[in-house]
Amino acid sequence: MLHKVSLGIADINKYRMIEARELIDEVVNLAEELKGLRLCHINSTPFGGGVAELLVCHIPLLCSLGIKADWQIIRGDRRFFTITKGLHNALQGAPFEEIKKESIRRVYQTSNLTNARELDPNYDVFIVNDPQPAALRHYLPDSQAKWIWRCHVDSSQPDGTVWNFLRPYIEEYDAAVFTTKEFIPKDLHLAKMVTMAPAICPFSSKNMFIKRYVCRELVENLGFDTNRLLITQVSRFDRWKDPFGTIAAYKLAKEKIPGLQLGMIGTFAPDDPESWDMHAAISAEANKDPDIFVFSNLTGVGNMEVNAFQRASDVIVQKSIREGFGLVVAEALWKETPVVAGNAGGIPLQMTGELSNYLVDSVEECAEKIVYLLENPAVSKRLGEEGREIVRRNFLSPRLIRDELRLIKSLVGK
Ligand code: UDP
Repeated sequence: MLHKVSLGIADINKYRMIEARELIDEVVNLAEELKGLRLCHINSTPFGGGVAELLVCHIPLLCSLGIKADWQIIRGDRRFFTITKGLHNALQGAPFEEIKKESIRRVYQTSNLTNARELDPNYDVFIVNDPQPAALRHYLPDSQAKWIWRCHVDSSQPDGTVWNFLRPYIEEYDAAVFTTKEFIPKDLHLAKMVTMAPAICPFSSKNMFIKRYVCRELVENLGFDTNRLLITQVSRFDRWKDPFGTIAAYKLAKEKIPGLQLGMIGTFAPDDPESWDMHAAISAEANKDPDIFVFSNLTGVGNMEVNAFQRASDVIVQKSIREGFGLVVAEALWKETPVVAGNAGGIPLQMTGELSNYLVDSVEECAEKIVYLLENPAVSKRLGEEGREIVRRNFLSPRLIRDELRLIKSLVGK
């Protein structure tokens, strides 16, 4: 049997302190109509990256609402995850020629078939996240459940060969979900295609309130000088997050702000074999400057520490060149920390109004905006406050639960 992730308990009523009453009432009512529904999310890793982050919060909240929600993780060996990382990259537009080889396709197919046989099938609705498990539905043709494919990446311009390989699997689903309508590939044909943005949990250890002095102490204990300015990027060790662009922007900014420090916080995920090489390359670059620090989940920089960095940093940088959504942006804005981020994928959804002035298309622009914010703390403060309000209104868990339950209701015919 596939592994089911066991999680804590949540309480939707906690959100009444921060969310509009109508939203919470709608969520509660929808859940009441769907009470007892057996729902299962499936993905390829229980930690490291946005989907895992999202489900850790999402599943307990669904359970607290009376939905019988579970989360199953598919298995795969290094070969499978190397291929699926290629598929992930290709959905974001990078070529992945290997998929033309029958042997490579077979690894993906066989692994999905094995996982399909090990899946607990006793659910009314499955939500399959991202390309790794996308073929599961194909290998369970007799399933009476409703199947939803949830794409978390920017699939607006996928590599043609890979897309032609994946598309028939996805077209077997009852519905597909994308973060914005721009991400829906033009030739995808499905009866139901909807958009919903991801969301963060304000009560998780990643996002809960921590007093500033504690954050500063945490960061200080890791070697930072809290009397000097600090900028941080938090992301998987992944080429699309443009870590070298961030380091280059930091170096340019440092010419204007001597003593500036950079934190590069990253995760290794079991489904991402590329992260090791990327981590080594980033560390090699960081070793050239004593004010650049690289930390990861492998050395104990977990949710609380990320929370502390997002609060203690003067600016959070997320210089992505492709980005499905970028939970890290919402996380930083929720903490009222200003963000300079790549003008890519789902990031502009979060950085609207005045915040959009800090969406960047180049290293130079990134450095210029970082310097401006560091030199103008009053502007940073205003942007942080605006950012928190944008997140409060749009990107907290109950809104995502509502969107998901609305979709499920439309599919199960209640
Ligand atoms: N994250 C983390 N530690 C790290 C790097 C990332 O906990 O060292 C978390 C981050 O806080 C966020 C998630 O991983 O919750 C990344 O999600 P995002 O949507 O930004 O990017 P993805 O990894 O899904 O591409």
